[in-house]
Amino acid sequence: MLSIDFFKKNKIIVEPGEWELKVYYTEDTPEEAFEKLRFFLGRPFKLEKLDTREFSERLEKFILESKEEKEFEETKEFQEKKTVDILSSDSEAPVVNFINRIIIRASRLGASDIHFDPGEKEGLVRLRLDGVLQEFEKFPMGVYPQVVSRIKVMSGLNVAEKLKPQDGRIRIKLGDKEFDIRVSVLPTIFGERVVLRLLDQDTKLLSLEELGLSHEDYKKVERFAKKPYGLILVTGPTGAGKSTTLYAMLLLIKKLFPHKNIITVEDPVEYQVPGIAQVQVNPKVGLTFATGLRSILRQDPDVILVGEIRDAETADISIHAALTGHLVLSTLHTNDAPTAITRLVDMGIEPFLIASCLEGVIAQRLVRKICKFCKEEYPASEEELSTLGISASEVKLYRGKGCENCLGTGYKGRTGIFEVLEVTEELKKIILKTSDANEIREVAKLQGFKTLKEDGISKVLKGITTVSEFIAVLERD
Ligand SMILES: [Zn+2]
Repeated sequence: MLSIDFFKKNKIIVEPGEWELKVYYTEDTPEEAFEKLRFFLGRPFKLEKLDTREFSERLEKFILESKEEKEFEETKEFQEKKTVDILSSDSEAPVVNFINRIIIRASRLGASDIHFDPGEKEGLVRLRLDGVLQEFEKFPMGVYPQVVSRIKVMSGLNVAEKLKPQDGRIRIKLGDKEFDIRVSVLPTIFGERVVLRLLDQDTKLLSLEELGLSHEDYKKVERFAKKPYGLILVTGPTGAGKSTTLYAMLLLIKKLFPHKNIITVEDPVEYQVPGIAQVQVNPKVGLTFATGLRSILRQDPDVILVGEIRDAETADISIHAALTGHLVLSTLHTNDAPTAITRLVDMGIEPFLIASCLEGVIAQRLVRKICKFCKEEYPASEEELSTLGISASEVKLYRGKGCENCLGTGYKGRTGIFEVLEVTEELKKIILKTSDANEIREVAKLQGFKTLKEDGISKVLKGITTVSEFIAVLERD
């Protein structure tokens, strides 16, 4: 009943006219009603003033004739089908159109989250694009409660409950694409904050070729995937794209060796991969990484993915699985590749065990790519040259000017920067002697190991990303 409520509260009526929309108002129509209307309609309308009696009669007729039935059907549709087809929804309720329009734009821009923030005077819509929150638009606080109610109806939440946090889900149909939106509502002093997370299954599973590895690094990772047994680690902070890399490796292993038995234990299972048995960690029933891993070992696996090695027990079982003929893939929370060895030793793993089973470590970060629609060349400043460690005087760099395709940010999409440590015979000998990351790095460099920084610089010079983005990502550690 949103539209009727809106008309009643604001003492305003919108009707289709011959050429344009007709808006009826009366002497006690509040000034902000026109502002809201301009915002929601987004097209010209013709104003006509009625006296109070005429207005009430018209409003009553309007309510009786048109809307009740239609609105009711629409609400029912959301509850029954559970999939909201937003392109073919021809609702006249302004709030519905407003939310649909934001979801459509957000999805086309490739946003991962939509934030609705209540303020003192204005509501704010922000989008998370390539990991960074960007202001998208503002709207009058007067309609904020209706926006929240509408989202609650769409996601099956309790509209009347305004004091407790709530979580829900919406299934959206956008043309021939269907995806889920996870909804979180949190009460704050100005009103309820809403975050919609767009879970777009088909865009996230990348192949190894698409990750952004240099040719040399790609070859190393391909060799890791072909190993019959051993331990492979992916490291980096949260949000560095570690799972994407692990899944890409699993996809390659599945393609190369279709008969291998692949089992994962994850927290959470982020993407469902057909043909792979995936186990979700659930501490409430005693299913942890460690206990899950023990059970998996009795399932005759060839390849095991352990979401994360967080504790000594999981580290210990993973190492033993790798030593007894399994290929074990996992992640560790370290900033670079050589430090993974230091961390395992700190967790109580004997260096000779690490030396005998560790085959490779991939460290990574995600950087935003320059938007290809507004990319421009410019001469590098002296400061930028010294940051990049380049002594040549005339170097061209690239940046995005900002355009409608990238919401003015100059960036569109992300790619990885990597360092890939292949544990060679020589490195195994070093690991037996020391767990010092600097010493390990220096030996690896002699064998052609390229650091995260070097890979980043090469991506800046190739015009894939900017100097400022590269610096910001490395400084985040
Ligand atoms: Zn652009």
